[in-house]
Amino acid sequence: MEMRRRTQIRLHIAALATLSTLLGVALFFLISMLMASDIIAADAKKPKENLECSFCEENIKIILEEEEAERAAEHAKKLAEAVGIVYLTFDDGPGDYTNALLDVLDKHEVKATFFVTGRGDDAVIKREFDEGHTVALHTFSHNYAYVYSSIDNFFADLNQVGERVKNITGQDAKLIRFPGGSSNLVSRRYDGRTRIMSTLTREVEARGYQYFDWNVDSDDAGRAKDSDTVFSNVASHLKPGANVVLQHDIHPYSVEAVERIIEYGEANGYVFEPLSFDSPTVHHGVNN
Ligand SMILES: [Zn+2]
Repeated sequence: MEMRRRTQIRLHIAALATLSTLLGVALFFLISMLMASDIIAADAKKPKENLECSFCEENIKIILEEEEAERAAEHAKKLAEAVGIVYLTFDDGPGDYTNALLDVLDKHEVKATFFVTGRGDDAVIKREFDEGHTVALHTFSHNYAYVYSSIDNFFADLNQVGERVKNITGQDAKLIRFPGGSSNLVSRRYDGRTRIMSTLTREVEARGYQYFDWNVDSDDAGRAKDSDTVFSNVASHLKPGANVVLQHDIHPYSVEAVERIIEYGEANGYVFEPLSFDSPTVHHGVNN
């Protein structure tokens, strides 16, 4: 009886030992598999790091270039088929109505150009830039008596607004518009009979800037004091080819007219573009 019991206990121990060894082995495999799948999962999360073959990188580059070329071709086709191109430009801001204007432009997916000054919030210029509009320069002070009293004063003031824009956007703005336009006569009052505009129009180009005037005047700085008049001044002067429209985003009635201008333009076959260095400059005749 005693012997049988001992044998039974031994058998139990042996069975337990075998079972625990089997369990141990199974557990080892299970943990190994889990660890391996974790490594695979982690790898899958960083596909870029795994693309160590130059062939893959080259292919991705080609695909991106093809997409870009396709977009450019589509854009060129849209421009070629358009009745005309409208370049909406807004001077003297940022102002109190610029954010509302940016909302309208965003809604219609239209890009415009802002000739900014020293006024307004940096955040608004940042938004203009971030949303794909052209941020251009219009002098910091917009003070005729100062900027047109000497070449040095003009460039000191232009540099000041250029610095402001660069601090906000990180980029050098090379598109400018003279206060009053290149055809202005107001500079005669302050330039000591030096015909300053004749010098400045040459000098800005020599310094790597491109200046833009306009060929459609909304007259929002003149007699147009309501959005109906601003709208009709612009809409009635749109024509085939390039239309560089002058508006000021410091006037609420001018900003209010923009949505109708866009809707009218698009309904009549025009496309809206931001100015770039190579856009039509529509220079005025210089009078001073
Ligand atoms: Zn101005």
